[in-house]
Amino acid sequence: MKKYKAIFFDWDGTAVMSRKAPAEDAVSAMKPLLERGVKLAIISGTTYENIAGGNIEKYFTHKQLDNLYLGLGRGAYNYSFTEGAPVIFSHRIPDKELLEKIHRTCFDIHMELKNEYDFDTDIVFSRPNYCKIDLMVSSQRGDNLFMQADELELLKRSLRSHGITGGLGELIRLSEEVGKMHGIDAAPTCDAKYLEVGISSKSSNVDAILDCLYKEKGIRAEECSFWGDEYVGIEDGIYGSDSFMRTEKTASGDFFDVSELTGKRPAGVERVGGGVDAFLEFLRGQV
Ligand SMILES: [Mg+2]
Repeated sequence: MKKYKAIFFDWDGTAVMSRKAPAEDAVSAMKPLLERGVKLAIISGTTYENIAGGNIEKYFTHKQLDNLYLGLGRGAYNYSFTEGAPVIFSHRIPDKELLEKIHRTCFDIHMELKNEYDFDTDIVFSRPNYCKIDLMVSSQRGDNLFMQADELELLKRSLRSHGITGGLGELIRLSEEVGKMHGIDAAPTCDAKYLEVGISSKSSNVDAILDCLYKEKGIRAEECSFWGDEYVGIEDGIYGSDSFMRTEKTASGDFFDVSELTGKRPAGVERVGGGVDAFLEFLRGQV
């Protein structure tokens, strides 16, 4: 397989089975690449505390960390490392006023779904720049935060049974409309369980990190690959969270999906399947 100068990848479900699973396998596949100067960028919706127990830096040498980047919090934070310590080199954290608008938007989405369709949701407000609206309050993923095969169908059935005939697209449009009412340009995304509404996405992370790699090392998108387990479309034109790694800037890179799900993927995304094992095998093959 082609050798890449930089590899961007999702964490939960791509590099590790779950957030609480040991990170050792991922770490040992990453080390030799970092040692040789290949740039690795973890792109995850979660925050620093949830990656490899909250101190991923302890697994690597300072020299290896010089080649590691993290794009976290759904566009919120971009990290590099200086002398072994994580440093936020760019961020998209809203000020208090803007964050309040995001919260009000999400609460109004919740109320609209309750009043119009008697559709229950829960909201997680504590994220730095977005809220998570739980669309499947009766189903719990447990520790496995990645999308499972039957979840899509369950959600679609649940929406229909409440009279939400426009599916996820209707929820995305509703989010954008309610966002406008509060004066924000919302960037809603969804998978089969969560509608997430904020002002940035994984797109903001990959764009910022690629900019940085270009400035520092002249690395271009076509020298990069992008790996995830959530590219599949939930319905026409609405793709999973990892599809946001494909932006105007990154589009000439190579995109791979390790999930086994059938369904539409964005143009240019290749399904390799095989889950975490397939991704780690790819990393080992890059040495
Ligand atoms: Mg994932």
